[in-house]
Amino acid sequence: MSTHTVNATQTHDSMFDAVLARLDTAAKIMNLSDDVLQVLRNPQKQVKVSLPITMDNGKIQVFEGYRTIHSTHLGPSKGGIRYAMDVNADEVMALAAWMSFKCAVANLPYGGAKGGIKCDPRAMSVGELERLSRAYAQAMKDIFGVNKDIPAPDMGTSGREMAWILDEFNKITGEDSPGVITGKPIAIGGSLGRDAATGRGVMVNTLAALKKMNLKPIEVTAVVQGFGNVGSHAARLLAEKGIKIVGIGDHTASFYNEKGIDITAALAFTAKNKGVLKGFTGATEIKSAELLISKCDVLVPAALQNVITEENAPKIQAKLIVEGANGPTMPEADSILNDKKIICVPDILANSGGVTVSYFEWVQNKAGYYWTEDEVNTKHDLKMEIAFEAIWNNAAHFKTGMRLAAYITALQRIEQGVKLKGAY
Ligand code: NAD
Repeated sequence: MSTHTVNATQTHDSMFDAVLARLDTAAKIMNLSDDVLQVLRNPQKQVKVSLPITMDNGKIQVFEGYRTIHSTHLGPSKGGIRYAMDVNADEVMALAAWMSFKCAVANLPYGGAKGGIKCDPRAMSVGELERLSRAYAQAMKDIFGVNKDIPAPDMGTSGREMAWILDEFNKITGEDSPGVITGKPIAIGGSLGRDAATGRGVMVNTLAALKKMNLKPIEVTAVVQGFGNVGSHAARLLAEKGIKIVGIGDHTASFYNEKGIDITAALAFTAKNKGVLKGFTGATEIKSAELLISKCDVLVPAALQNVITEENAPKIQAKLIVEGANGPTMPEADSILNDKKIICVPDILANSGGVTVSYFEWVQNKAGYYWTEDEVNTKHDLKMEIAFEAIWNNAAHFKTGMRLAAYITALQRIEQGVKLKGAY
């Protein structure tokens, strides 16, 4: 039973303030030195640029671009680039700090960073997006580097944007440096297994938690919210391990079938249906609000942030929550889940499979030698199992839930980096 929670009565208008609240709570429990805490409360570097782009109509539009490096104490900084209208300095700062903790939890030799451009990628042509991505790479030429700061895709970006950014960076430096960016298409140095890696990490963490709970996969049911990259791979891999998937949903529709949903059929359906579940006939359609509170043993929120709230947390029936999405549980809901003794594998552990295989991509790029998908998956699974075990043990040691234990584990590792490297 957890005895520590983040102060849920505080409201955080700033996303970075919410990160600081969790950081402060974890720091207090583990007795982190004030010196180290001060270092980690302040991002190392924040860059804001203006990107003037000639749009298809011949007019210039100026976009805001950001990159924040939160820490480099354990290695070069790592973190995605987001294209969305709500990108702002505060959000990028919070996500950069999150990456520091996530990389440390997975025990990767990285610090944390995040970048973004305030834009609506769906309203832009391919040509406009290419010019914008190349302009961003130009503006960040002194920030990015294979041993300095290594971006990756995030919301609104994919391998396509990574390829443009890599090409622009290579033109600037006159060298081929595939390791300067991860999440690339396979043909230009991407890693096999990267696409499914985050969902795979969710599966490995789920199996590890079930083992601790003395539950066998074949005895267990699961509900997965989100049927995009993370959710669809997670549902498929959990089903392959014998877990009965009774609920799935995306932004178009949600479905429940207590006898189990055929995930292969759902994947085949979305492949022919513009990637969405609306119209799927393999289960009964339910209201989207009912999905998270429907009967199941394992709940995997793998769509978006802030979906487990003060309102629905008391009604959640699952014994185990594995956070595929970033930030699906609001701080106010955390203490309710703790009181209900629901085990929650937090995002910075549960979805760290993605950055873990990004790390493998970087290693392969540096070596110029590429692994088979089986090699990638085997190395990934082992790393995830070790990360889970460390956090499980710290949760018992510090008498916390797994979320604070994950922060504590990350801080223990980053603290060593800060102390060993020292200050001026
Ligand atoms: P995605 O765009 O591929 O899929 C998102 C899914 O969520 C889609 O099925 C969409 O329909 C669904 N969705 C959106 N709004 C919804 C709503 N209101 N209700 C129900 N479903 C809704 O995105 P993704 O890459 O799968 O990312 C999902 C989450 O996982 C995000 O929080 C992301 O930050 C996080 N994440 C992704 C990765 C990765 O490698 N892709 C890594 C770490 C964390």
